[in-house]
Amino acid sequence: MTTDTTAADAVAREDAAVSDAQANAVSDDGIEKLPLQASDTAARAAVAADHGKRDLVGLSREELGAAMAELGEKPFRVKQVWQWIYNKGVTDFDSMTNLSKPLREKLDAHFVIRRPSLPVEQTSEDGTRKWLMRFADGKEAETVYIPDVDEPRGSVCISSQVGCTLTCKFCHTGTQLLVRNLSAAEIVSQFMVARDSYGEWPSPTDESRRLSNIVMMGMGEPLYNYDNVVKALKILVDGDGIALSRRRITLSTSGVVPEMYRLGNDINVNLAVSLHAATDEIRNRIMPINKKYPLAELMKACREYPNVSNARRITFEYVMLKDVNDSDADARALAKLVEGIPCKFNLIPFNPWPGSQFECSSWNRIRKFSDLLYDLGFSAPIRMPRGRDILAACGQLKSESERERKSLMKARLAAGIPDEH
Ligand code: SF4
Repeated sequence: MTTDTTAADAVAREDAAVSDAQANAVSDDGIEKLPLQASDTAARAAVAADHGKRDLVGLSREELGAAMAELGEKPFRVKQVWQWIYNKGVTDFDSMTNLSKPLREKLDAHFVIRRPSLPVEQTSEDGTRKWLMRFADGKEAETVYIPDVDEPRGSVCISSQVGCTLTCKFCHTGTQLLVRNLSAAEIVSQFMVARDSYGEWPSPTDESRRLSNIVMMGMGEPLYNYDNVVKALKILVDGDGIALSRRRITLSTSGVVPEMYRLGNDINVNLAVSLHAATDEIRNRIMPINKKYPLAELMKACREYPNVSNARRITFEYVMLKDVNDSDADARALAKLVEGIPCKFNLIPFNPWPGSQFECSSWNRIRKFSDLLYDLGFSAPIRMPRGRDILAACGQLKSESERERKSLMKARLAAGIPDEH
């Protein structure tokens, strides 16, 4: 078989796998997910890649305890190993110096501490940094660090799925097929790779963290991967490890109402909602999920989200689409819609992409919309696009770089150059 054929076969196989996953993931209404086994497949691929050893990243404390017990180790070892992995950030057992040598060797014989491989790391002119993470089965997702403009800290934007089922009409990421859910290990390790990149180990105190916040706003709808996302968040907030405060984590959902209630009870991180319209008529048009969970249900879930207060408001994200959702009447309808909910708006200038059916509202219109919401009593800052030069802006994740990579691959194939992937 020639190299060209091998590479072309790899593309064909990838495409077939994507179509299969998509066919399995989307129901008749085009918006619902079915349980995906794909993260199990990924876990099997990871075990195979590590010669049968089990990855300790992504295990809950109970699971780690069970794994250690199988080796005949006492429960207090769990905290020690947990601290080495999540507080010190080590990736090999030999560095665990408060464990005896025989125990380190035993751990090394059975376990690994994995990181995704990093085919690409890019830093933007404005300091935004993006990583393309490749997981054990070759699937990829992107993670972005967005530095604060005024302070020496910033947010890490984490993906929850490879692709997305939801097809929000303004979102470029939504034009990709859903490939699979990410496992808890893959979600946690995105943050750990970011910490590796900035050398932020051991875990600093809250005040001195550079990677101070997490936003679950990357690729995918996190609440359609509920169990893995919540498991990962519980690892991230654990006080013996990464120890990030729940108040520094924000999960953004397109409005998966039943899971919003569960999230409030299970972990109660900050909530952001991709709202983008003040009426069902407009929201149905641009966000198909609204047909399943219309605005009245969504607003009820927001009102009932635990511990929401003026000090801990819900963020409503609102992309500014010219002549679609940007009139003064829309702003007034929005204010009425969210009445009584401690909240703020985040106005996002639409980032056009080839083939999109929308244009961004004019700057004047966005300013006027923002001013009107302020006059009506709401904070409504305009989010300035970050990391545009490295395609890290909102809704651009993976789609543009995927396109670039595919065209590069085609060019390499045409030139008879073996593809490095
Ligand atoms: S906005 Fe979020 S939920 Fe909607 S298609 Fe894009 S990634 Fe999916």
